[in-house]
Amino acid sequence: SNRLHEAEKSQKPTFSFEFFPPKTAQGIQNLYDRMDRMHGFGPTYIDVTWGAGGRSAHLTCEMVKTAQTALGLETCMHLTCTDMPKSKIDEALKVAYASGCTNILALRGDPPREHDKWEATSGGFRYAKDLVRYIRQEYKDHFDIGVAGYSERCEDNEDVDQLVQHLKEKVDAGSTFVVTQMFYDVDLFLEWVRKCRQAGITVPIIPGIMPISTYAAFVRRANGPMRCHVPQTWLDAMEPIKNDDVEVREQGKNLVAEMCRKLLESGEIHHLHFHSYTMNLEKATRMVIEELGIMPDMESPIEKPLPWRQSLGLK
Ligand code: FAD
Repeated sequence: SNRLHEAEKSQKPTFSFEFFPPKTAQGIQNLYDRMDRMHGFGPTYIDVTWGAGGRSAHLTCEMVKTAQTALGLETCMHLTCTDMPKSKIDEALKVAYASGCTNILALRGDPPREHDKWEATSGGFRYAKDLVRYIRQEYKDHFDIGVAGYSERCEDNEDVDQLVQHLKEKVDAGSTFVVTQMFYDVDLFLEWVRKCRQAGITVPIIPGIMPISTYAAFVRRANGPMRCHVPQTWLDAMEPIKNDDVEVREQGKNLVAEMCRKLLESGEIHHLHFHSYTMNLEKATRMVIEELGIMPDMESPIEKPLPWRQSLGLK
């Protein structure tokens, strides 16, 4: 029933993009423009992340609705348990349902900004698997439900083997695909995929790919809260050119494309999920997709439902 699963069966690798709700009105307009442009690259679907808290949560719902109904993009809505009593979860799911969205990425969520540690909201859920179970119970097979996977660590757990067990529990609760945290060490990642398969996780695993837009962002992301391992060869390739933005983008494209090729050659990975939050990341994503030659044939151009577009300020 679903494009994501059709994509899994197709011979040509497919891809998707991830966006997050912007903070300003101008940011929202820019994002709709970017979504519209990137629609032209031929993604299977796009993700809209969930920001905990009132306005941001509302915006996620609005963006899903706009992308799905006005821009004609298949969407996947992220939904978290942070600060979400059941009633709010129900509201968000209703919007997704009414918009024609059939994919949810069910997450526990990050702690709210003012807290270090995550705590369950009263009348809400503790773990992502509880949310998965609830959505399955309420909506049966309407939604394809994805969950988050961590090949190296997650914010409050560094034990990879335990995380694999927790991932298995999420899949057993009814999720049908896994999207992973970003990473740059493809060997570590593929070892983790094997562990997942050995643990009986058979659903599609979709790698989260973070293209390299600038040296500063590359270093910040690799050392950030998610601290992923960066192979020494990558650091060696980047160090001499770190002050030349054009070179960094070119080299970054080569490194990330090479990583994607290895993923696809493994036979385990058929779909790539690109983080495309900013204009710079849009460019870097496009460069990688072009380098890989995986843009779909444009024999049958993607149809865009025109009447809606003008009201959104799109050409
Ligand atoms: P869970 O799988 O529920 O795990 C949470 C913690 O509980 C882990 O430490 C886990 O090991 C532990 N645990 C799980 N089951 C058990 C058990 N049975 N017993 C004991 N401990 C257990 N955050 C957002 O706020 N918005 C987003 O849109 C968003 N999108 C994301 C997309 C992706 C692809 C990824 C990888 C992460 C995303 N996140 C997002 C971040 C995510 O919410 C955090 O990493 C969060 O800390 C963990 O969420 P989870 O769904 O993996 O939680």
